[in-house]
Amino acid sequence: MQRRLIEVRGIVQGVGFRPHVYSLARRMGLGGFVQNRLGAVRIEVEGELASLDRFCAELEQHPPALARIESVSCQQRMPIGEYEFSIVTSAAAGNGQALVTPDLAVCPECVAELFDPTNRRYRYPFTSCAHCGPRLTIVTGAPYDRSRTTMASFALCPQCQAEYDDPGNRRFHAQTTACAECGPRLTLYGARGEPLAADDPLATFAAALRQGKLGAIKGLGGYHLCCDASNAQAVEELRSRKHRDEKPFAIMVANAAAAAAFCEVNPQEHESLLSPCAPIVLLRRRATSKGTVADAIAPGNPFLGVMLPYTPLHHLLLEAMSPVPLVMTSGNRADEPIAYRDDEALLRLADIADLFLTHDRQIHVRCDDSVTRIVTGRELPVRRSRGLAPAPIRLPLSCPRPILAVGGQLKGAFALGSGSQAILSHHLGDLDQLEAYRAFERDMTLYQQLFGIEPQIIAHDLHPDYASTRYAEATDLQQVPVQHHHAHLASCMAEHSLSEPVIGVIFDGAGLGTDGAVWGGEFLVGDYRGFQRAAHLRYVAMPGSEQAAKEPWRMAASHLLDAGRDLECLKLVAWPAGLRTVTTMIERKMNAPLTSSMGRLFDAVAAIAGIRANSSYEGQAAIELEWQAMRATDRAYAWEVAKASAAASWIIDTRPMIREVAQDVARGVASTVIARRFHSTVVEWIADVCTRIRTATGLAEVVLSGGVFMNALLTSESVERLTEQGFTVFTQRTVPANDGGLSLGQLMIAAQSQGK
Ligand code: ZN
Ligand code: ZN
Ligand code: FE
Repeated sequence: MQRRLIEVRGIVQGVGFRPHVYSLARRMGLGGFVQNRLGAVRIEVEGELASLDRFCAELEQHPPALARIESVSCQQRMPIGEYEFSIVTSAAAGNGQALVTPDLAVCPECVAELFDPTNRRYRYPFTSCAHCGPRLTIVTGAPYDRSRTTMASFALCPQCQAEYDDPGNRRFHAQTTACAECGPRLTLYGARGEPLAADDPLATFAAALRQGKLGAIKGLGGYHLCCDASNAQAVEELRSRKHRDEKPFAIMVANAAAAAAFCEVNPQEHESLLSPCAPIVLLRRRATSKGTVADAIAPGNPFLGVMLPYTPLHHLLLEAMSPVPLVMTSGNRADEPIAYRDDEALLRLADIADLFLTHDRQIHVRCDDSVTRIVTGRELPVRRSRGLAPAPIRLPLSCPRPILAVGGQLKGAFALGSGSQAILSHHLGDLDQLEAYRAFERDMTLYQQLFGIEPQIIAHDLHPDYASTRYAEATDLQQVPVQHHHAHLASCMAEHSLSEPVIGVIFDGAGLGTDGAVWGGEFLVGDYRGFQRAAHLRYVAMPGSEQAAKEPWRMAASHLLDAGRDLECLKLVAWPAGLRTVTTMIERKMNAPLTSSMGRLFDAVAAIAGIRANSSYEGQAAIELEWQAMRATDRAYAWEVAKASAAASWIIDTRPMIREVAQDVARGVASTVIARRFHSTVVEWIADVCTRIRTATGLAEVVLSGGVFMNALLTSESVERLTEQGFTVFTQRTVPANDGGLSLGQLMIAAQSQGK
């Protein structure tokens, strides 16, 4: 007789792993137990040597379908004469370590039952099993079991209970299981929140959408606003009621084949659409698709955000709408956080939705859809949220003490670190919104409970006015301030388990630098310990500070004046009335901090080229500049790189380029060509400066991070160019390159600072 302690890491929780281990151990006649731990499944098995070996081999070679095993460790233990095998439940474990997993899209077996007239869950919109269903969004406390979820109020009927207790059943210990007898039910409300009597609320709702009405539907992490995506009038109406002028809407289609009808879908994108996370995937629109999707969904956009149904309710709704796709956009007005409580949704969305399809399973944690895109074979996450948070991320070094990293201001997401694991939160939105800030505070407390992590150290941005910084400074935890772009660099390093110094090309909109200026076009050399600023864009004024991000024409004025161009005679952009004030601000250095921001340079060029003078959502000018560039080919503009002394940073002089852009505009060169030449120029800067840094330091590993690298064209060409030059290039693939991934980097820097 022998006994082994086995730890399995990877995606092993909430995917039916424990029942799988249970039945395997029973088949092999082994005793022991299986238990969920932080980031791992722990198994102890006891029996004869041959059976133990067979057990281990089976476990590694044939895991459950949704599981992804990263590593298996095995140690000998003293046998204790255990003959029975059991699943140690979270309650019995009693250590607060039973884990909450991300919400999982309804699994194929549950979908099959949903459409099987002989099944007792036929057309039941809340079916789920141990492999699928809501998780994070319904959890109210730790450890994770039904009594600490919003399913607590639904007592299991005898049939559901029998399945729950049967280790051979797919619903064994499925905390979310339910049926039409005992589970949540649909209800329908009108625009003024009045209950509408309907025998079949879903059919009534679908019929209204088919007539062009706007609906609100309760999903996993919040309410969506929806309408018939092929009905141009309905889509326009949704835009005007939601006060969302141009920002693209996502759509939901019945299946991958439907997506392929109007978008190009490569195998990687296909896999992403069908993954248990079921994110919104940005797909390239087909030139030939016609009629199926209204133009107003994503005006002028060569991409479309597409997702597949991820709850049984969605499947039923898409079936009822077939073959029409639905607009599915977050249930909010303009930039507010998504509505998730029923009373709140009815109130906040009353002026937008004509009717509400809702139900009595409460959402406890608001969670937006995740968004991703695939760029030349690499995943480039845009938003890591539903279906991904709170899956643990393995760290390349261990946190000596538990750490909380609070992130930045925009695209809030915090991270908790303990041992060599980090838990990165779902997307919380922009913390200047009071609602978002409240969720930030509340969900941090919840995560600490769920994962049993009590932080002793708090890492935050240098910016004193970020809500997250103010939160950190008000705690009595030990504080570790982290420079914004250093955190971006560390975030990308952490994902790739790098620990030696690298070159970090960090391009974003804004982050406070150590010299008090607004940084954002940075070449850093460093690691978790620290960094040097090897190069950056030439400083220019940012008139009106944050207002400049919303009004790209301000940066156009600033860069043109810096390059010695006369604004009045050039008439390059439709200058708004405020031009004279802005010119004065720049000249007198009033409310015009210096910036090296790459994001603002994109804005400036977009405005000078006549593409966009004002942005209606974050990054719009830069995004449209990218679209323009995709339609042309041409050479780079002129530039100069220089440094004041051997010890100083290299400065990329933007003036020669700005002068050439202005000249192109004056000569009537197409904006597509200007956009293309600008992108090529930025790629050349990266290659040029990285080569200089390599010559000086011998470093040849480059990480690319910061929100500007959400630009697929820039990212793919930079990777290609640097690889040609012999560099090894790393891009973010697990957490976003934008500020949504910031907290992971802050965490690593804090962990390193404590580890000496
Ligand atoms: Zn299922
Ligand atoms: Zn039941
Ligand atoms: Fe940033």
